[in-house]
Amino acid sequence: MFPANFGYVAPRSLQEALELLDKHGEDAKLLAGGHSLIPAMKLRLARPGCLIDLGRLPGLGGARIEGDSLAIGALTVHADVASSELVRRRLPGLAEAASLIGDVQVRNRGTIGGSVAHADPAADFPVILTALNASFVLVSPSGSRAVSAEDFFVDFYTTALAANEVLTEIRVPLPSPGAGTSYAKLPHPASGYVVVSAGALVIRQPSGLCASVRVAIGGLGSVPFRARATEAALQGQQLAPEIIAAAAAKAAEGADPDDDVYAGADYKRHMATVYARKAIEAAASNKR
Ligand SMILES: Cc1cc2nc3c(=O)[nH]c(=O)nc-3n(C[C@H](O)[C@H](O)[C@H](O)COP(=O)(O)OP(=O)(O)OC[C@H]3O[C@@H](n4cnc5c(N)ncnc54)[C@H](O)[C@@H]3O)c2cc1C
Repeated sequence: MFPANFGYVAPRSLQEALELLDKHGEDAKLLAGGHSLIPAMKLRLARPGCLIDLGRLPGLGGARIEGDSLAIGALTVHADVASSELVRRRLPGLAEAASLIGDVQVRNRGTIGGSVAHADPAADFPVILTALNASFVLVSPSGSRAVSAEDFFVDFYTTALAANEVLTEIRVPLPSPGAGTSYAKLPHPASGYVVVSAGALVIRQPSGLCASVRVAIGGLGSVPFRARATEAALQGQQLAPEIIAAAAAKAAEGADPDDDVYAGADYKRHMATVYARKAIEAAASNKR
């Protein structure tokens, strides 16, 4: 399969990229790792007239501490998120999610910003970033704004990004001492994408009681969702296995997944409870 004809530009600064986006409007597409966009172009699902390659923009890679958040540049490839000492130490659930994406080639080319902007309902980062209460920095010619993960993912392949905006950074609040994070995924056996997955952030009081918890589920709808009944059942409780199991059993409440050729809706709902339990148990015992 060959893509339709397209133009190609490789700006050297964010300013230049924004000017090009402004000039070409809806006819332009930003190119990061190309691991979702190029296949879509080959299938003629996307036919941009102009590709604006972000690959030469300086300063959009790597992770650093910025105040009370971990800031990750949008062009950081999955392999670098997975292997970053900082991410592994402070947010192991995020490193875990990155390490489970695709294969080595995908992890070496695909970027966290591209994954988030693409908003595939079977992607990994949107789920763990929703659990971790991340926000996304979107820059346009008129300035920048930060949008929370829960507001950013709108529908299948649809986000809050405007046509003239570039996602430059992902910001994840650093959890307090005593917090644990984890990610658990049931991968599709052929594609490796998410069938069902769960991300968890658990903060324990010194007494062992659950001070705060966020659980996000992927694979049951167009965007990740918070398993609020599960969260409510854990709040203030001892994080004993039977309490976690009872709370996780509520993880699919309110979800209405579709049947597909690999998995039926009931199976997906059941697996959401299984993977929610795995993620919560790991986060509860994984405290940093
Ligand atoms: C074989 C294979 C297996 C895969 N398996 C998995 C998997 O298991 N889990 C998973 O989560 N993903 C998987 N992926 C997808 C992979 O993670 C992609 O890399 C990712 O979805 C897109 O990142 P990218 O950098 O390649 O973006 P691109 O393909 O370059 O871009 C994707 C979209 O995002 C936009 N975009 C990119 N960067 C920005 C930015 N900074 N600001 C605004 N818009 C931007 C582009 O315009 C485009 O619309 C797989 C891909 C392949 C090919």
